[in-house]
Amino acid sequence: MTKRILVRCPTTAKLTPTGQTVEEELWNTTKLRTHKVTCAHCAKVHSWTKKDVVLAR
Ligand SMILES: [Zn+2]
Repeated sequence: MTKRILVRCPTTAKLTPTGQTVEEELWNTTKLRTHKVTCAHCAKVHSWTKKDVVLAR
């Protein structure tokens, strides 16, 4: 199942979509570098890593 990759905004504590998706079955073995997302909630750029991610439908 394809999941959307969300990260939690450190400023507002809201979930922010990164615009990326991942197959849930592959997530545990997926290696990610640090990514950046322009936050929809506070308009800042946040760096995120795999441990920050929430998967959503
Ligand atoms: Zn934010």
